[in-house]
Order: sequence, then structure tokens, then C-alpha cells
Amino acid sequence: MKPRADGLTRSVCPYCGVGCGVLIETQAGKITNVAGDPAHPANRGRLCSKGSTLHLTTSATTRVLQPELRRNRQTTRQSASWDDALDLIADRFAETIATYGPDSVAFYISGQLLTEEYYVFNKLAKGLIGTNNVDTNSRLCMSSAVAAYKATLGADAPPACYDDIELADVILIAGANPAYAHPILYRRLEAARAANPKLKVIVIDPRRTVTAEEADLHLPVLPGTDVALFNGLLHLLLWEDKLDYDYIAAHTDGFHVLKNILHDYHPRHVAEICGISEESLRAAARLIGGAAGLLSLYCQGLNQSTHGTANNAALINLHLATGQIGRPGAGPFSLTGQPNAMGGREVGGMANLLSAHRDLANPAHRAEVAALWGVPQVPSTPGKTAIEMFKALHDGTIKCIWIACTNPAQSLPNQTLVRAALEAAEFVVLQEAFGDTETARYADVLLPAASWGEKDGTMTNSERRVARVRAAVAPPGSARPDAEIVIDCARRLAERLGRATPALFPYQGIEEIFNEHRATTAGRDLDITGLSYASLDAHGPQQWPRRAGDDAESARLYADGYFATASGRAHFYPAHYSPVSEAPDARFPFTLNTGRLRDQWHGMSRTGQVARLFAHAEEPCLTMHADDMARRQLVEGALVSVRSRRGQVWLKVEAGASVRVGQVFIPMHWGSQWWNGHGVNDLTVDDYDATSKQPELKACAVAIEKAELPWRLIAMAVSAPHQAEHAYRQLQALRATLGSFDYASVGRFGRAREGITLRVAHRGAPDPAVLETILVALGLTPGPAVMSYVDPRLQISRCVRVEDERIVALVLAGNIVGHEWLEAWLDNGHSIASVGASILAPRAEPPEATAPMSPVVCSCVNVSRREIETCLESNVAEADAFGVLQRQLKCATECGSCGPEIRRMIVAHTSVAA
Ligand code: SF4
Repeated sequence: MKPRADGLTRSVCPYCGVGCGVLIETQAGKITNVAGDPAHPANRGRLCSKGSTLHLTTSATTRVLQPELRRNRQTTRQSASWDDALDLIADRFAETIATYGPDSVAFYISGQLLTEEYYVFNKLAKGLIGTNNVDTNSRLCMSSAVAAYKATLGADAPPACYDDIELADVILIAGANPAYAHPILYRRLEAARAANPKLKVIVIDPRRTVTAEEADLHLPVLPGTDVALFNGLLHLLLWEDKLDYDYIAAHTDGFHVLKNILHDYHPRHVAEICGISEESLRAAARLIGGAAGLLSLYCQGLNQSTHGTANNAALINLHLATGQIGRPGAGPFSLTGQPNAMGGREVGGMANLLSAHRDLANPAHRAEVAALWGVPQVPSTPGKTAIEMFKALHDGTIKCIWIACTNPAQSLPNQTLVRAALEAAEFVVLQEAFGDTETARYADVLLPAASWGEKDGTMTNSERRVARVRAAVAPPGSARPDAEIVIDCARRLAERLGRATPALFPYQGIEEIFNEHRATTAGRDLDITGLSYASLDAHGPQQWPRRAGDDAESARLYADGYFATASGRAHFYPAHYSPVSEAPDARFPFTLNTGRLRDQWHGMSRTGQVARLFAHAEEPCLTMHADDMARRQLVEGALVSVRSRRGQVWLKVEAGASVRVGQVFIPMHWGSQWWNGHGVNDLTVDDYDATSKQPELKACAVAIEKAELPWRLIAMAVSAPHQAEHAYRQLQALRATLGSFDYASVGRFGRAREGITLRVAHRGAPDPAVLETILVALGLTPGPAVMSYVDPRLQISRCVRVEDERIVALVLAGNIVGHEWLEAWLDNGHSIASVGASILAPRAEPPEATAPMSPVVCSCVNVSRREIETCLESNVAEADAFGVLQRQLKCATECGSCGPEIRRMIVAHTSVAA
């Protein structure tokens, strides 16, 4: 791996499955900027709010720089050499395998690894050790999509491509919110709608998301009723004679079975099950039935369900029955959540898969892979999938686990069990770029991994497009690329297991791994024998299949109606509706949905480093319908306790028309590094789909009660931009206090400076020692630079540190109100003279010139909700209010991620004005 000389390096964004191309700018061996790659076909130069701030995530402060290990759990980890760390792993794995067999060890890896990295992990487990216990966080993301594609079309291959967005005339978005989760794809949809006003968008989602709000038709189905809806639509299309019987006869089988099932899904019944009007169901069927090109985009809402496979397959049935597949502007298109979930699937990096879309359950496929790898056999025993793996760790069946590039102590459902499993494990290896993830505290060995911009390889995006990922700089400290770590350890382990390794891990460089992976795809549905690093470098990212000798990439699959099944015919899937596994009841009367926000990514290990990405949502919030709030006498911003059968969290509540009565929503991002508790997955249920083994993260039953936590604290500090390390140490010190309070969250703020915030609510005054820890952490111990006011009787304390006439740290504790303006005021570095000692008062009024804080809508240009509302008030009569806002405030002029939210505000203002 050789980083390029200073200049521009072409690579790929490491966040979502859109797979945008980026240009990384470097100076003096550091990443200094990032821009969208105009030559990349996925994004054509655009980046969203997350991608465009990637260069702000490359500070070394949060990185693991040296291997660390502990030889027993009573001690803390110490820095170690690579040799010591890898020898310890090889020793412990070899001893465990010798004593308990190969299935006593497991690997839990990530859809953020590069394809080559996935490949060597898979080979280490299945080829060298002889266990199929290798699964990935992609199990939480798209395994239902995989299972449904295979069950219906015969192969795990999304048949459509991004260009179909511009070619469709009806786009059905089901269980997805691309405005937030796949923003650049949504930009393409916006542009397509602007260019073609006849293009209709239908959104199926229990929440009225930003995407749903902009749709022509939104079906706010009750959680988990997707199969009933798709069957109901097919029932209507059948009745209206809108099916393509020629296509069904020529290219499919199993329709007669499905047809019998559809009889039970008459519109009134379906409308009742789904909680929608019969008219809206009929309207959707009319649009679909009249579509020349129907494109479906779907994601976690269908996948993360105990009926995930049926949800996906029922939608694919709709496409097969209408012949809406294999042609421009048509097809069932599963969007991948993670950047390289596709690559992981390609190399078979999951417990039930083998290289190049082969099946573990197929003896011929196992024999092929064994022959390709030169090993006697690939084990036939199915490996443990994500939830099964952690349950086996908990019950002691699995003794050792190697986790790479993922954070199960935040992201898996039922955190109580997951954390107990990590405690119970005899040996935990964590290979990670970031040292402060929730999982890090459980690691016996922590291996510093290279991260985005520091390593080479390939990734595949949602549309089957393989792209080169390139190193722009060297990794910090002694961090190494993931594949290099795996190969080095695999060779050591092979020695201990008495296996000859040169044949298994002979690689001198990353390209040799790609070439071996390529060889395994020959003759398979994803054949990439026509691709090489040289061709990707010369011609840019390419879609598979791309066989040797092909002179063009494959934009769409199944154009000839020939599917990847034994008969060449697609199979209709007999999908039956059944309710969610944990329905609400008298004790737990609400259904909790979880999902993504616009400006954060997964467990925030990367986006949590960028202060401006907190401006859109500063802390975790429960979204609840205003009627439910009124019934419980909850006001906006009140604190509530949310309890499920598995755990409990405290957080703020906000009224939102996005959820229906009886439903609530909590974002997935905040874990115990940012919030007291283990995050929303303290509440979620670990039930999973029987076929795909994908867990249910979209529906569990919860109870909600008003929290009485009158004692409040706000702590803030700002540092100069070059003092990022100092700010990080302060943040870590504040994090250590989170568990001392009922509600507590930390976050970042600021553009001019590095700002950190701690927000606390507690049932009474806390232990004075905790308060002291906070004061010490922020430099607020008595001294000439510190002003303070303490009233023990009223349990009030105020403490402010002033340097160069500016406040650099403060703690306000007790009864505090009306300090929302402070973050912006501190960031702007105003003189203390503008507020004086009033800062110590229970209600400190902002100086006149200070704009009150309001959530930031446009994080690129830092434009708040209030600024947009103020501008709208004087321009509401303008026909082009959006353009006025762009011209006056410059919002929505850069990445465009805020566009949908601004349009929503314009609509709200226009209707109020009317
Ligand atoms: Fe990255 Fe945003 Fe593109 Fe996704 S849409 S790949 S997060 S820039």
C-alpha cells in the first residue's frame, strides 16, 4: 500500500451504499479536503453532508495507534508490539480450536470492509480454521434482500441500476428514506422529477419521512404489514387485468400458487391490516398498473423484519407479475445501507454463503471452493449468523471472537444480552480504526486498523459497480490495512495448526487478493473475469457481470427474461402476511421504530468527530405524535422514560407528524459513548427472520412515561481549532460521568472552535464528586480565571472560566432555563463583557446581537431553521421561495441534503399564510 504523493487521489465515500466517488486532497501527508468525483457515475461530482465532511474525520485523536493487549481481565490493556499481539491471538485461537474444535471461534466483520479484506477473513475462517462462523453487520442490513433475490430470481443480484431513476415513470419507494439515508440518489430523483413532471413517486413507510412527504402518494402502513400491502396491490392488479400474462408464462413459475394466496387479500381487508384507506391502496395500484416503467427502491424497512424475506419477495412478485424487470426504468432495486455490503456478499463473507455467490448448503459449491482454495474441504456445518453468534458467545459455545470494523456493543439489538456475551467471552479481538467505540472496552486485544483514505482495494455499490478505493496518506501510528493484519495473523495461526500456508495466504499485495477473488467468479452470475485493477484505473468503476471479452458493462440484468435459476425461470414466492413478532399491548402500548438521521452514520465513530454534523440533531430524541403527547401531558422537549421488555432509556420527546398515533421513533446512532445507557438497542428485540436471520429493528413494543428529573446541568467548553486533542480529552472526561445521571448526553458543536457539550437531567442533586470531576475536566477549579456562584440551599452552582475576555468553559447546574443560545455565542468567541455576571443567573438572557439557537437545517452553510423561517416570513408570497432562500441565505447551494427539509418548511409556511 503506497499513499500517493500530495495532490488528488480518487477513491470512494465510506458511508452508504450509493458509493459516491471522492477526490481526496492531501498536503504534507495529511488529508486536507474532499470533493465529489465528477467522473464517478454514481454521484457525478456531488456529495451529501456526510461525504463532504469526510476530511474532518481524519484527525488522529480518536484513532488506535498501537496494538494493545491484556493477558487477563483483571488488568487494563497495555501497548504492545504487532508481534506480541498477533502471536497472542494465534496462540489463543489455536489452543481453543485444539480443545473445543473449530466452531468454538468466530469472526464478526463488517460491510465497511473492502472486498479484499472480506475475502481473506472468509478464507481464514472457512479455509484455514474450518469454521463457517463468520458473519457480518450486513446481516443487520441486507440479508433479507439476499434471501429474497435468491428465492425469486435465483441469484443475489440487484437487476436495476441508478440510471433507471431517470427512465422510470413510477418509482415505488418501500421502507426506505433515501432523502436521509441515500441522499445523492435522492438528488438524482429530485432532478428526474424536475425534468419529467409526469414521473410519479409512491412511498410506503409507517413514518411520514421527508421522502414520504415529497411523494405523490404516501401509504403510511402499520409496521410489519408490507406483505399484506404487496399482496393487496397484486390482488387489485389481477382484478383489473393489469398483469403481464405473456411474461408470466414465458419467464416465471409458481404463479398459480401465488394466485390462490392473493384471493385472501381483497382491498378492504388489506386496508384494515395496513391501517390505510382503501382508496389510497387503489390509487397505488392504478399508478403501478399504468406504469410503463416501474422501479422499486427499498431498504431497511423491508429488510429489518421478522418477515424480511417475505417482504422483499412479495415486492419482487409484483415486478414479475407485471413484467417490470430487465428493462430500462424497471426492476426491484434493493439499496444497500453500507458501502460494501455488496462486496461482502460477492466473496461469500457470511455464515451461509461461499465465494462468488455460492451456497454453503450446496455440496458441489463447497467442493468448488475447496478446490479453488486448495484445501481438503469447506465445512458443511452452517455458521452462526450475527444474533446466533452472540447468543452462542453468551452460552459459552463460542469461546473466542474476532470483531473487525464494527461495533456490536452499540448496533446489535438486545444490548443487555450482547454485552453479557462480550463479558462472557473468553477472548475478544477487536480490529478497529477508532479506539473509543462501545465494543473497545471488551477487547482483550485491540488492533489498530487503517481507515478511509489510508488503504487500497475495491468496493461494490448498490448497483453492482466495482470501484477502486485508494490510499491517499499513510495510516497513523502503527495502524495497518485490515487485509495485511488478517494475512499476518493467519500465517501465524497456520503454523500453530500445523497447516502449510503459502497456498492459502501467498499474497504479496492487495491486488493479488482481488485477482484470486476474480478467479472464483468465473462462470458465476457475478463473473468479473473482465475486470482488473488496471481496467478499473483506466476506465473507472464498472458494473458486474463483466466477463473476460465483454466490451461493455452490464447495466441491467435479466433483459432476456432468463433468470439465474436451474430452469431459467423466476419463481413467484408464496408470501403470506403475519403480524410483527412483538405487537403493542396494555403494558407496552407503543410500537418503536428505529432508523437513520440525515447527518449521522451508524454508531457515530466517524461522524461523531464532526461538530457541524451535530447541528441538525444535537441529542437523541423520541419522536411522538402530538395527540399521544397531549394524552400523557408531555410538552415539547420534556424528558421521558422509554421501556421495553429488555431495557430502558431516558431521552427528550419531540412532537412529530412523521409518526402515527401509537408509534414512536428513535434514531439508531447514539450509543453509550454519547448517551447514558446503551442506546436504542437497549430496547429493540432480537427476534429474526427465519430464512435470512436478519433481526427485527423496526418494531418492538415500548411503554413511555413522563420523567421527573428536575435537576439540570449544562457543561460546555470551547478550544481553538488546533487544540482538538485537548477537546477530545475533555470529551472523554465528560463521557466518563454519563453513567452517574439519569439522563445525560454529550455532543460537539462549533465551526470556528472545537466545542463540546454535556447535557444532564437527574432526579436530585448528584454526588458532589461527579460534579467536581466535570469541573476539573473543564478547568473550572478555583483560580483567578474562574468566576463562580454557588447556592447550596437551592442546589445551584454556576462556574465560568474566562480567558482573554472570552468564556472558554462553563458549568451551569441546578435550575437552569433559557441557555440555548450559549453554544453559538461561545463558538463565535464574543467578549464576556456582553453578558457580564448575568451569565451566572438562573436565566441568562442572550445579548441582543446573539441569534437564538435553532436546529441547523443546512449544515454546509450553517443556516438554522429560525433563519429560514424568518426569511420565509418576508418572502412567503414569492413563487420561487426556494430560490429566494438559496440567494439570500445560500442554504441548499452546496450538497443539497437540506433541500427536502427546506421545501417542507416552505409548504408549511405557505399553508399557514393561506
Ligand atoms: Fe457518501 Fe453521501 Fe454518497 Fe452516501 S450519498 S456515498 S454518504 S456522499
